Amino acid sequence: MVKRGEPPEFLPSSAGTAAIIKAGRLVDPETGTAKTNQTISVKDGRIVEIGDNVAPLPGAETIDLTEFCVLPGLVDAHNHMAITYKKFPENDVYYYTYVQDSTAIRAIQAASNGMQMLSFGFTVVRDLGNNALYADSALRIAIEQGWIPGPTIINSGIIIGGTGGQFHPTPEMARHHDIVYPEYLEADTPDEIIKAVRQNVLFGAKVIKIMVDSQPYAYTVEDMKLFIKEAANCGGLKVAGHVQTEEGARRAIEAGIWSIEHDIALNDELHRLMAQKGIWRVGTETPFTEYSATQEEFDARVVRMKNAYANGVKMAFSTDADYYVPGLSRGQVVINFLKTWKAAEIPAKEILKIMTINGYKVSEIYEKRGPLKPGFPADIIAVKEDPLRDIDALRNITFVMKDGLVFKRDGIMTPEKFLHAGPVNGWMIR
Ligand SMILES: [Zn+2]
Repeated sequence: MVKRGEPPEFLPSSAGTAAIIKAGRLVDPETGTAKTNQTISVKDGRIVEIGDNVAPLPGAETIDLTEFCVLPGLVDAHNHMAITYKKFPENDVYYYTYVQDSTAIRAIQAASNGMQMLSFGFTVVRDLGNNALYADSALRIAIEQGWIPGPTIINSGIIIGGTGGQFHPTPEMARHHDIVYPEYLEADTPDEIIKAVRQNVLFGAKVIKIMVDSQPYAYTVEDMKLFIKEAANCGGLKVAGHVQTEEGARRAIEAGIWSIEHDIALNDELHRLMAQKGIWRVGTETPFTEYSATQEEFDARVVRMKNAYANGVKMAFSTDADYYVPGLSRGQVVINFLKTWKAAEIPAKEILKIMTINGYKVSEIYEKRGPLKPGFPADIIAVKEDPLRDIDALRNITFVMKDGLVFKRDGIMTPEKFLHAGPVNGWMIR
């Protein structure tokens, strides 16, 4: 039986398919090693066997990746798939995007962004809010039901915050709540906190995202403990906290939050505390490019990243991508974040582990999806050069398989097998 809210154990969209993948090099990001001339057999969407002597599968398609490095899919642990603010017409002020773009158009943008991310090898995305009225749940459900190809989505629903959320609204906006307020659920009291968590869970959230300190009335340690308790009560969900002040970070750490989103408030002392308590650092470290950040911001960010790494903090590759850069896909915007990780002089094999293993762990899917092992869904990518030596190899994704179906081959997207005229994996997935 399919449990409510859980992807089905079976993968009907992949039923009856089989593939034998011949890998020139098979990279294991967990150990930072690679084996040559390995074979992966895949049946009904799942990995059957991996090794240098694998049993043949009747009717299997042979996929020749003998000239390539094969590895598991990548994770962006902080993205906003259903918002795209832009220079024109809103001058990158996302208040106006909320007014201008309906939930419906934003859900369709999210479907496109999902394919753009998948094409760049991202088979898992943690989607942390600002997605209108649950366009993120719609995206996750559409992918899980089998309507469209896309990454596995871990979504937050609407971000919960104290009055105003992350907004600094005018009284007029506050009075006419419905214009923009769908972007934040307001919860100031214990009753409101419990209600807000439950509303998100009801409408498909898989993680709870809160604004810890974006207003002067930051959440207290007790407030956050209540969020954590209620999220746990709602099917064992975790709480991700947007943090922008040192005091907010200190409180979130004390409360035992799952992840701190954004690096701006973090310093040596806070990194030590995070490492001690095993709290995830989802830093969203925007690189300095012609379209984002400044040299000074970037330099400070690199210093913080180096410090976190030196302190042994659990780190995740994450981007906060939510904007349009003319000429770049969402996948290109995201992979450009490698610049920051390289500038922090973190070794390539560590970056690769952070982008895969750590990503599965912060997304809480490590036990069922991500690593390449028998029984797990076949989410497999390939690149020409060895990412253990040069992480920029990940900029050129040649091949992508999701749930055992080929999404990209020879550098070209081939989504036909993912497209269905109905909920092929089952309509009851919510
Ligand atoms: Zn964000």
